[in-house]
Amino acid sequence: MTHKFKFLAFLSLAVLLSTASWSREKTYDGSLPKVHIIATGGTIAGASTDIGYDAGKVSIETILQAVPGLTQYAELDYEQFCNIGSQDMNEQIWLPLAKRVNQVLACGHYDAVLITHGTDTMEETAFFLNLTVHNPKPVILVGAMRPSDAVDADGPSNLLKAVQTAVKPDAVGKEVMCCLGGRIYEAGAAFKNDTHSLDPVSETSVDWYLPHNAATGFFIEDLQELPEVGIVYGYGSGSTTALEAFVNAGYKGVVFAGVGDGNLNRAALDLAGRAAKNGTVIVRSSRIPYGGVYTEGGEVDDERLGFIASGSLSPQKSRILLMLALTTTRDIGTIRSYFRHGVSER
Ligand code: ASP
Repeated sequence: MTHKFKFLAFLSLAVLLSTASWSREKTYDGSLPKVHIIATGGTIAGASTDIGYDAGKVSIETILQAVPGLTQYAELDYEQFCNIGSQDMNEQIWLPLAKRVNQVLACGHYDAVLITHGTDTMEETAFFLNLTVHNPKPVILVGAMRPSDAVDADGPSNLLKAVQTAVKPDAVGKEVMCCLGGRIYEAGAAFKNDTHSLDPVSETSVDWYLPHNAATGFFIEDLQELPEVGIVYGYGSGSTTALEAFVNAGYKGVVFAGVGDGNLNRAALDLAGRAAKNGTVIVRSSRIPYGGVYTEGGEVDDERLGFIASGSLSPQKSRILLMLALTTTRDIGTIRSYFRHGVSER
């Protein structure tokens, strides 16, 4: 993506978000926009316990009752898709969820989809949907850091912000968005970087910006599962046990959350190099959230070893891109180009 395009993308999001006074958007026939809510759980659906709270306990109906003003902005309906803490989110939910979002948006009745979701893995689900939803209508994930029964719960105000954003005409044609801390973030850049703050998301710079539409991403309608891809975390005096375990278990790919600029220690480098030669796809990412990992100018010879540099993608987003990429190809050059340039107009 060129700097100019990046700037335009940033500018359009900034304009969308800076609309301070929220008007009631009307459709051409004067009716309110229609928003479908898919509830998956999270702290926004959490209930207090003796030690803290449990995520994914309260129904979407109860959550919506706490925000009666929402119906000023949109005609809402909802479904309880699942009710879990997002630490339990996985491919067996992501695939049907993406299919459901595609189905809801394709039926023509709805202007946008909201998904209530835990914050722990929200960026992963958002990124997954961004690569698998083929409709430019807004898709927004919304969560909270305090459970629904907290006196100062943040879920209601985040929901309001998400609905207000979803009905704006200029929310169409964006990436999948996340709403937390009263702000909107796009899937490619968003990552949770604070375990407790009410505003726990930051943005990293991105190499490519990919609004979801008919021509972008991967088509998952016929998929029931995804290839297994694991993540190995790098650290000083790092052991190769985890890498070896993934390779021996037959994982199709491994993302290495390397130290610094995506570096692996000598033993891990040798093992990963052998694994790559034997067909395991190795992506080199970093445990550092900013700056990215690139083949050019680094210490690792990706070309010789057969590795793929993650570019600006975090290990967890690299894993998602690699799983989806492996459903279509095992060609390292093609997968490299996805990491470098995104997945559009294939
Ligand atoms: N563990 C919770 C979840 O991700 C945390 C949250 O929602 O903030 O579901």
